[in-house]
Amino acid sequence: MVLLLFGPPGCGKGTQAPLFRERLGIPAVSTGDMLRRESEKRSSVGKLIDGLLAEGQLVPDELVNRLLEARLAEEDCHDGFLIDGYPRTVEQAAHLNDMLDKLHFPRPVLIHMDVPDRVLVGRLSARWNCPNCGAIYNVLSKPPKDPGRCDEDAALLTQRKDDTLRTAYRRLEAYQRLTDPVLAYYEEAEAGKVVHVNGHQRPEAVFEEIKAALEVHVLVPVRARARG
Ligand SMILES: [Zn+2]
Repeated sequence: MVLLLFGPPGCGKGTQAPLFRERLGIPAVSTGDMLRRESEKRSSVGKLIDGLLAEGQLVPDELVNRLLEARLAEEDCHDGFLIDGYPRTVEQAAHLNDMLDKLHFPRPVLIHMDVPDRVLVGRLSARWNCPNCGAIYNVLSKPPKDPGRCDEDAALLTQRKDDTLRTAYRRLEAYQRLTDPVLAYYEEAEAGKVVHVNGHQRPEAVFEEIKAALEVHVLVPVRARARG
């Protein structure tokens, strides 16, 4: 099975991805990790990536596609894999489908974690940090003992620009603008399948819901084909 994990910033996608390897035995391939690993290798490609990122430029599609294709051809991906963070555009989605055809993989199932905006904005803007020692707090999940002050040194906590309300709304809007066309692409029957799960529940429950959806959309048809 080929799975694509999608979800807005703050939806808890990062918690779900490793569960696929632990529980279903399929690796989670993250294009972000892939680029980081390449850059750590200090290969010529790695140095090129470093240069682009240092200049605040995007790594070109062609390079990401080449690395991804090499990764998907590796042994551990043989029985399927999950991709996190890709494709971000319709062009990339079309290219991924070509790549999957070439490697004899089925069309992907896109799992989208749905979480209401108000919840996401709450989570995204809940982070505060200590300008003195760098400690990070979260008013929802890890509040400081004394509101607004660091537990370690009592310094006044501040918020990164990324963590404020307005930025949170902007990030959600950007996500939607980027993702809607990709979702529409996979909603075409021949391109793939889109499954929405409720991401606004405990991580365990989210994973159970994903697994149940896969039984319906992936595992059952595969078994049925094998028998018939
Ligand atoms: Zn501190």
